[in-house]
Amino acid sequence: MVHGRALLLKIIDPHIHMVSRTTDDYQAMALSGIHTITEPAFWAGFDRGTVEGFRDYFNQLTLFEPARAAKFGIKHYCWICLNPKESEDLQLAEEVLKIIPEYLDRPTVLGIGEIGLNKNSRNEMKVLEKHVELAARKNELILVHTPHLEDKLKGTRLIMDVILNHKEIDPSRVMIDHAEEHTVEEIKNKGFWVGLTLYPQTKFSPERAVDVIEIYGSDKIWMNSAADWGISDPLATLKAANEMRMRGHSETLIQKVFYENPKAFLSQCSKFEAS
Ligand SMILES: [Zn+2]
Repeated sequence: MVHGRALLLKIIDPHIHMVSRTTDDYQAMALSGIHTITEPAFWAGFDRGTVEGFRDYFNQLTLFEPARAAKFGIKHYCWICLNPKESEDLQLAEEVLKIIPEYLDRPTVLGIGEIGLNKNSRNEMKVLEKHVELAARKNELILVHTPHLEDKLKGTRLIMDVILNHKEIDPSRVMIDHAEEHTVEEIKNKGFWVGLTLYPQTKFSPERAVDVIEIYGSDKIWMNSAADWGISDPLATLKAANEMRMRGHSETLIQKVFYENPKAFLSQCSKFEAS
């Protein structure tokens, strides 16, 4: 049922970590109508430890992955940063922040992300502040990772405050991702975009995510699979789209949530072109 009708739907998955996925996933996504994706920089599961380690990763994100995706007819864009978990070694963080601008200028890099907080620590706050300063200085889009579970509301507020302190940053150029029911309204009211993450076990089920659309509306909101090394599903967006369809939402609204909205946000970077 999903596949028969999903061919009509064009989907952008704006948050997915393809470095941790197989080519089978690229193939399945291409067959399912997901022809444009964006990949934020994230933690590798271990600390990279050296500037060279980060260069290797940034090269993988900007050179290898777009070429691998292109073989399946998928446009691959990315975001560059240090992960919040990589903030505790401040000296290394400083060195990596110095090389980030080189990568921001590459043709498939859309901005700075996913930055944010993990445990809301003091060093994480310092590195977050530096990323936000860099984004402000270079007029880059920002993709924000918000902390998990009990730290989420506090962390989301701390991050929004850091960004709003920079009057030159327009909040409509900032995506606050991994939002949940108790953070959506506040994020929207402050003028930011809202990201919902669909995970098979943690984060949103298709049902919960569609509830959010029904309660808070479909403006300035996107959904993503955030598929990575853990239990996750690169076709999660299709399942949420199908949930909307089963509840009787129009194809126009579905297309808005899964294609037009991410396209509108991402097109604020002139390098982005949806397929
Ligand atoms: Zn992520």
